[in-house]
Amino acid sequence: METEYLIVGSGLTGATIARHLVENGRDVLILDRRPHMGGNVHDHWHPSGIRIHTYGPHYFRTSSERIWSFVNRFADFYRYEAELLTMVDNSLEHWPVVESYIEKAVGPDWEPAFTGTPSNFEEASLSKMPEQIYRLFVKGYTEKQWGVPAESLSADLAGRFAVHGDGDKRLKRSKYQGIPRTATQSS
Ligand SMILES: Cc1cc2nc3c(=O)[nH]c(=O)nc-3n(C[C@H](O)[C@H](O)[C@H](O)COP(=O)(O)OP(=O)(O)OC[C@H]3O[C@@H](n4cnc5c(N)ncnc54)[C@H](O)[C@@H]3O)c2cc1C
Repeated sequence: METEYLIVGSGLTGATIARHLVENGRDVLILDRRPHMGGNVHDHWHPSGIRIHTYGPHYFRTSSERIWSFVNRFADFYRYEAELLTMVDNSLEHWPVVESYIEKAVGPDWEPAFTGTPSNFEEASLSKMPEQIYRLFVKGYTEKQWGVPAESLSADLAGRFAVHGDGDKRLKRSKYQGIPRTATQSS
């Protein structure tokens, strides 16, 4: 059979598309400029037996039954839910910022610093928290990570964090979260 589809990039996106195409009887060629599959979620084993996430730490999360059952065809997962701590004013604090911290720093009657429809990342962040908290937790690391002023970034990017008041300190609240233990099927 002739190759019908050429997919450039074997990360989660390319690999998932390729898998669906093959399972629907299509002939697929997948190329990657890296010498391995998996894109940024690739991992490898250190001779000491430790598994290393080559491009930085990753874990899988979804609230979709469909996606969770799809990925479980290829690996067993062990439960893993991250809690992140960040150094703020010489103290380790939870990220995303928890309401109890804001109450301690600003007072129980704190209010978000922005109201209305945010037009950029900075306004979207300020619509969730007081300015003092935004400057402590968000502005510096965002501008360092993206290399541009926070007000030039899209408001959508602030969708990745929220201030929670219920004491749940997990980074993500997806129903299913985990790290693959072993591959169960390679074909
Ligand atoms: C440090 C870090 C931590 C992260 N942690 C998490 C996490 O915990 N959970 C989570 O869900 N997401 C996490 N992410 C995001 C996650 O890595 C991405 O959402 C996911 O890997 C995207 O998959 P992708 O296939 O779209 O892209 P990629 O994984 O980037 O794959 C693209 C592939 O295409 C190849 N490619 C690109 N251009 C060419 C070309 N011209 N020719 C040939 N090959 C090409 C690349 O080599 C690469 O292999 C993290 C990202 C980073 C950087």
